[in-house]
Amino acid sequence: MRELHVIKEEAKFKGLIKINKESQIPLIGIIQVGVIDRGSSLLQVRASTVCNMKCTFCSTAANSFDIHPYNYEVELNYLVDWIKEVIRLKDNQVNQINIDSVGEPTAYPKIAELIKEVKKIKGIEIVTMQSNGTLLTKEKIKSLEEAGLDRINLSVHSLKEEQSKELFGSQNYNLTKILETCKLIRESKIELNLTPVYLPKVNDEQISALIEFAKEIKCQISIQKYELYKYSRKMKKVKEQNWYKFYKKLEELEKKHNYKLKLGPTDFKIQRSKKIPLVFQREEIITAEIVMPGWMKNEMIAKAKNRSITVVECNKEIGKRIRIKILETKDSIYLGKEV
Ligand code: SF4
Repeated sequence: MRELHVIKEEAKFKGLIKINKESQIPLIGIIQVGVIDRGSSLLQVRASTVCNMKCTFCSTAANSFDIHPYNYEVELNYLVDWIKEVIRLKDNQVNQINIDSVGEPTAYPKIAELIKEVKKIKGIEIVTMQSNGTLLTKEKIKSLEEAGLDRINLSVHSLKEEQSKELFGSQNYNLTKILETCKLIRESKIELNLTPVYLPKVNDEQISALIEFAKEIKCQISIQKYELYKYSRKMKKVKEQNWYKFYKKLEELEKKHNYKLKLGPTDFKIQRSKKIPLVFQREEIITAEIVMPGWMKNEMIAKAKNRSITVVECNKEIGKRIRIKILETKDSIYLGKEV
């Protein structure tokens, strides 16, 4: 009970919720932190929601405190325990871990230790990480390399300084440093994969320039589709493309630059595998205990059957037990509503 009190106080005064073993908050079931299994041999691991940028097109609206009043950070050992639990639930059918985030993975203070720990897990062959690159220094790259990181998927959307600052929503974004960082990664054992988001009519020319840059430094480039969700930060002049148009564009760019751009699961050694069994079904009514505030306003997180559930339109006190109707269960991410 003391821990719940601590969580509540932290949430109220700092906006950062720290999740540790004592809290006993399950790390399967919510989207913002923990472990996400989408039925493949790759697990998504989210240690923190913190980000140091404010991209104009951010699909998760990181750093918009009117949308997300709280950030979350998970204690290293507790997260590793849950990764092992998910691997067990999937009958060990996991060969890689991708440390991604609804924020910036390198903002997690123990990122190198996390990589080192997951690399030790039996069966884990590949550990990768998303990053905007801004917090990577020569020393940091060295520590990630020593920890056993296999690939960095680095988001860079333009080779123009001013446009980059604008897209990343920060005057502190330093493109020259990022390009040097790309070269430093290339000199290390860590593979580099550039992951620009294609923003039609905004960075068309820059996508071509980035492909040429990837060719020059001999790294992979996986162009990302601009996707809009209900709470994404939206760029007024950019329209979301459908997948057909997006792949057509990739084909066109592949031919123009004579460089492989259409990459699929097999290129990244990802196979289909057993999913974590669901513990709740849609429409089911369950009883659960409120454990912390949710990622969005008017949401709380509840726990039951060793899973976390996001409860929408809820402001109930931490520690209260409520009845919930399960609304969604996709990929073991549970959403419910109080009844
Ligand atoms: S770096 Fe990523 S998480 Fe952070 S604001 Fe940009 S798109 Fe969002």
